[in-house]
Amino acid sequence: MKKEMVIATKNKGKITEFQQMFAKEGWEVRSLLDYPDLPDIVEDGETFAENAAKKAETLANYLNQMVIADDSGLVVDALDGRPGVYSARYAGEDKSDAANSEKVLNELVDVPGDDRTARFICLLAVAKPNQETFFYEGTCEGYIAMSAAGSNGFGYDPIFYLPELDKTMAQLMAEQKNERSHRAKALKQLLEKQKEWRV
Ligand code: IMP
Repeated sequence: MKKEMVIATKNKGKITEFQQMFAKEGWEVRSLLDYPDLPDIVEDGETFAENAAKKAETLANYLNQMVIADDSGLVVDALDGRPGVYSARYAGEDKSDAANSEKVLNELVDVPGDDRTARFICLLAVAKPNQETFFYEGTCEGYIAMSAAGSNGFGYDPIFYLPELDKTMAQLMAEQKNERSHRAKALKQLLEKQKEWRV
């Protein structure tokens, strides 16, 4: 029987990446899309860790099983760390990936290439009912491109430029993104601890 992991997210881009990465480990991924009756969890924390913990703990207590939550986002140095925890809704509550990227590009219009440093950050929280929550963090360094390119991935991938590959994240194949992304790095640490889990 396949092992099953619950990820506290409705974000289809994240769900696809977790499915791809967990499949290699022989795990099946379920998400909030499999639990449509759950109440919405308000992400009102000031840090990725706070939001990740809230999502994981709420769902772990509700389902009475171990749950992983991912809170992630883009941190742009020239914007004092924005969009940060507001990444999903940076350009408004309808959470448009294209509008979010457009807003970042507009805000950086006068910022030259070398000063466009940025990173993706992923905080994974692992919660079990009534137990201490554990955190794993992954980052991926890059630059904000001058314009969007590529159609793979999700979110800010089309404007996130990786100089070592001379491509944006959205120009990478899924396997390439899953080798180097902030999410992949956080998940790698988490899986290394997997042997200690009693699930
Ligand atoms: P969350 O669901 O509140 O954690 O919001 C995460 C947001 O950060 C997403 O909606 C994207 O805008 C952005 N983000 C996180 N991870 C990635 C990624 O791997 N690529 C592009 N954007 C990402």
